[in-house]
Amino acid sequence: MRYLILSDLHANWEALQSVLQHARSTYDHILCCGDVVGYGADPDAVTEWVRSNVAGIVRGNHDKACAGLDDLEWFNPVARVSAVWTQQVMKPENLDYLRDLAQGPEQVNGFEILHGSPLDEDEYLVSAMDAAQAAPYLASPVSFFGHTHLQGGFLCHRNGVRRLPNIGPDSDSETLELEPDVNYLVNPGSVGQPRDGDPRAAYAVYQPGERLVTFRRTAYDVAAAQKKILAAGLPDLLALRLEAGV
Ligand code: ZN
Repeated sequence: MRYLILSDLHANWEALQSVLQHARSTYDHILCCGDVVGYGADPDAVTEWVRSNVAGIVRGNHDKACAGLDDLEWFNPVARVSAVWTQQVMKPENLDYLRDLAQGPEQVNGFEILHGSPLDEDEYLVSAMDAAQAAPYLASPVSFFGHTHLQGGFLCHRNGVRRLPNIGPDSDSETLELEPDVNYLVNPGSVGQPRDGDPRAAYAVYQPGERLVTFRRTAYDVAAAQKKILAAGLPDLLALRLEAGV
């Protein structure tokens, strides 16, 4: 079984299309670590695609906020503007779908998917220290998470935590062989708003039987996604950051 692992799609239709084209025939099922909407200009199209194609999903903080389940006062001003816009434009049935998404972690065939950390979907796992603190709460040896928009993640061994390798700018794929007796916190990266300085859309493919995780990147039509963001009257910053990947 091969799983396409997506996270932080953020209503970016162009990035999603490019990922699906790039990943074609490399997977059997699709999983999502949350944040289907927020920031981008295509929340209905991306949510409808998720509704009909994703086999397993947990909600992200933006899904929660846009569905009206969270107070927006903790969001920064740009995120708040985009959440309010998203609430206003989305079809009611798609907002209902977001509202009903499960809070992670969710078990899938011996591994798990979650948005922020195993204890708190809004918590960011950025540093090795963050990962070390979260590791005892993992229910499976392999967990996929999102929220930071940073592809990679952590290998958690009893002797310490190591960062997983990144894909260089000249490559679009990096395969990692999972070692036994080690816990992995794997971030597939963000489809719709990468923040690791590489503007290419990010995703991962997991083959539990072969114990392989492949990190991948693909360029997409950033200009088209930016145009839609500006035409929607969303903050310029949300368009600008896509081309820098920050
Ligand atoms: Zn996100």
